Amino acid sequence: SDALRRAESLILEIPDYPVEGILFRDITPLLADGPALRATIDALIAPFAGTYDYIAGLEARGFLLASAASYASGKGLVPIRKAGKLPRPAAAVGYELEYGVAEVDVHADMPRGSRVLVVDDVLATGGTLAAAHTLLRKLDYEIAGTAILFEIEGLGGRDTVNDPRLHTVFHS
Ligand code: IMP
Repeated sequence: SDALRRAESLILEIPDYPVEGILFRDITPLLADGPALRATIDALIAPFAGTYDYIAGLEARGFLLASAASYASGKGLVPIRKAGKLPRPAAAVGYELEYGVAEVDVHADMPRGSRVLVVDDVLATGGTLAAAHTLLRKLDYEIAGTAILFEIEGLGGRDTVNDPRLHTVFHS
């Protein structure tokens, strides 16, 4: 659609952010455009209609997309947060970053066995999403699929995530 093409043109490429050598994708111009944002959220969740009970968003930019997707689908929102931000973490999973380590935490307020659609903004190496999947499975949730706004190709992210129901709206 026109709105979706417009949305793609609103993803900026910022060289050397946050460190030299990284080409950072900045989605804030897309977020700031109403029709582009709506078309993107619709495209993000369209393939998964009827297959999930909850939407999990990854801190922090994933929250922005997941909350809109939750409203659009009428499904509940589950924040997957970085270490130490949740008062009642039911599980935690650590993972490797380029520099150092990180951790994702989640509450377990959904019934066991619930089908969860995992949403984030950018797929790079896939480490963050793989950790999120491990976290949800640890608590006996089912991964209904993974919906990503922008996939950076050539970093092996798709293989690392290893979800046959990985859907990305835009890619490099
Ligand atoms: P990964 O774990 O290497 O796949 O990195 C993905 C995580 O880092 C996501 O939660 C993204 O929000 C963030 N990220 C990585 N690269 C970018 C980028 O170019 N733009 C925005 N976020 C990014």
